[in-house]
Amino acid sequence: MRILLVEDDALLGDALQVGLRQADYAVDWVRDGISAETALRAGDYAAVVLDLGLPRLDGLDVLRHLRAKKKTLPVLILTARDTVDDRIRGLDAGADDYLVKPFDLGELTARLRALLRRAGGQSSPVLSAAGVTLDPATRRVECDGKQVELSAKEYALLHALMQQPGRALSRAQLEQHLYAWGDEIGSNTVEVYIHHLRRKLGTDVIRTLRGIGYVVAKTGNPP
Ligand code: CA
Repeated sequence: MRILLVEDDALLGDALQVGLRQADYAVDWVRDGISAETALRAGDYAAVVLDLGLPRLDGLDVLRHLRAKKKTLPVLILTARDTVDDRIRGLDAGADDYLVKPFDLGELTARLRALLRRAGGQSSPVLSAAGVTLDPATRRVECDGKQVELSAKEYALLHALMQQPGRALSRAQLEQHLYAWGDEIGSNTVEVYIHHLRRKLGTDVIRTLRGIGYVVAKTGNPP
């Protein structure tokens, strides 16, 4: 899952970037509202963590512009302004959730998991498809009831596919989930991780749709 972090406070931004990366998100960090809009035009993000008080362009304006373009990705706002009015303005401008500074990193990642789950149309916290279950809170993956150990990238790739079972993701879309700016991307890494996942989960869980991409079947065990 690739997250855009918009925070002008260097210390807080750095701590959030480190914390989110430890939770296996690919994180791009920008420090003002204009850069946030540029990043949102160019990148395919699963969610945005957006500070409201930003240089160059206010967080509320970034949010309003995003929603005016009918972009539905989840936005969690961060505010130091501990007044009810600011939170109401943020939610009315299209935020999905908010945290008031100072907050706990564990609470931020839990709220992000909930937002990503809802954005994927899943109500249960544990994702389940094709005989595989994936728990985003514990990052535990089971196949036919047995725990499977995955590397961070393998997990991120499977998580992206299981977020919306039945929906195919292209190699480019999967790369967007796996890598932040500045990460080196090999030419066939997605194929390599798919190969590793098939070795660990069996060959039928992730299907290849020729010319389209990869998909995890919606329900049931593969034949
Ligand atoms: Ca700020």
